[in-house]
Amino acid sequence: MENCVFCKIAKKEIPSNLVYEDEYTVAFNDLNPQAPVHILVIPKKHYASLNEVDDPVIMGALLNAVKETAKKLNISDYRTVINTGKGAGQEVFHIHLHMLAGRPLKWPPG
Ligand code: 5GP
Ligand code: ZN
Repeated sequence: MENCVFCKIAKKEIPSNLVYEDEYTVAFNDLNPQAPVHILVIPKKHYASLNEVDDPVIMGALLNAVKETAKKLNISDYRTVINTGKGAGQEVFHIHLHMLAGRPLKWPPG
């Protein structure tokens, strides 16, 4: 989608630090990390949020990409977050899964 920063990253039109890529997804470092490891996993195809994803293949591919990224980086403990909608903190309207790791992550998050 035009003017979508994550579409541009997926198409490599703007540079990012890609850490994983497969047929359906890419993963790259967050610009403003909230933990020593903060990676975003996105589908190459544009969906504004989780609510718009209509393809179970993409649903599965996103979680698979999280697992493969963790494996590739040798990370065993991490948190995966999907903010859906403004009221839940979503700021970029191309669905993305946050992966946070590298520091103690308490639960409940607070
Ligand atoms: P949200 O609040 O939508 O769940 O998360 C958006 C995330 O995208 C934030 O953590 C923010 O730091 C990150 N972000 C926003 N713009 C860019 C960008 O241009 N490049 C990268 N790598 N991350 C971005
Ligand atoms: Zn997009």
